[in-house]
Amino acid sequence: MTLISVSSPFHGHFFEIATFSAACVIVALGAQRNVEWLEGSGLLTSSWGLRCDAFCRALKGDGSPAPGVFAAGDVAHWPLADNDGHLVAVEHWGNAVEQARMAARNMLPGDITGMRIHRHLPDFWSSQFALNIKCVGLADGADEMAIAQGSVQERRFLAVFGRRGRTIAALSVNSARWLPTYRAMIEESAPFPPIRGAVDQPRIRKEPASALC
Ligand SMILES: Cc1cc2nc3c(=O)[nH]c(=O)nc-3n(C[C@H](O)[C@H](O)[C@H](O)COP(=O)(O)OP(=O)(O)OC[C@H]3O[C@@H](n4cnc5c(N)ncnc54)[C@H](O)[C@@H]3O)c2cc1C
Repeated sequence: MTLISVSSPFHGHFFEIATFSAACVIVALGAQRNVEWLEGSGLLTSSWGLRCDAFCRALKGDGSPAPGVFAAGDVAHWPLADNDGHLVAVEHWGNAVEQARMAARNMLPGDITGMRIHRHLPDFWSSQFALNIKCVGLADGADEMAIAQGSVQERRFLAVFGRRGRTIAALSVNSARWLPTYRAMIEESAPFPPIRGAVDQPRIRKEPASALC
């Protein structure tokens, strides 16, 4: 029998969550946006966070910007211009820093004509079971995928994701050196797949985006 107990610094006490036997346990951590305290403020909130516009301005229930209220980081839920304006909530340090800078910048002019849209290409990296995994762009909504470098069997590859014929994201597994090239292509909305006929490239075969799962 294996006893799993968790020390929670957030609640300041220990609690037991499960008792079971297992050969392998995978623990997933997540985050919960703390927006309950905004209830009654008139600001538009949901489990995705505080609804903002592309200028980092918090929105009221009627969809108009709340004067002088800006948000950045995990709590912000905003339309990403480079993602066809779809709403995103990006939970990474890089965005928290960049969006905070833009929010601060946009506070100064006081008028929308002097404000700038917060543009951001999300990325993250992680190390899992000796695999170095890096991703740039948002693969959500991808309708095609292609292994552009390496192979899944070798556990060393770069997968590119496309939507409606455009390159929107790239995921590298133990092959991060290729990623900057693909980042530039995502920023340019390059045709999908973006590179053909490179000497170190396998024969590219387009597959449904779900093929990697
Ligand atoms: C386990 C874990 C691992 C992560 N690893 C990575 C990683 O490897 N790379 C990466 O890019 N990102 C990682 N992240 C995400 C990253 O930590 C967040 O994207 C980043 O911290 C967001 O910054 P933030 O300032 O928006 O929010 P936070 O860092 O969460 O800061 C919000 C602050 O507000 C405080 N707060 C909340 N409610 C109130 C209130 N009512 N009154 C006053 N204060 C309040 C909180 O206590 C907190 O200090 C990880 C997150 C977790 C949970």
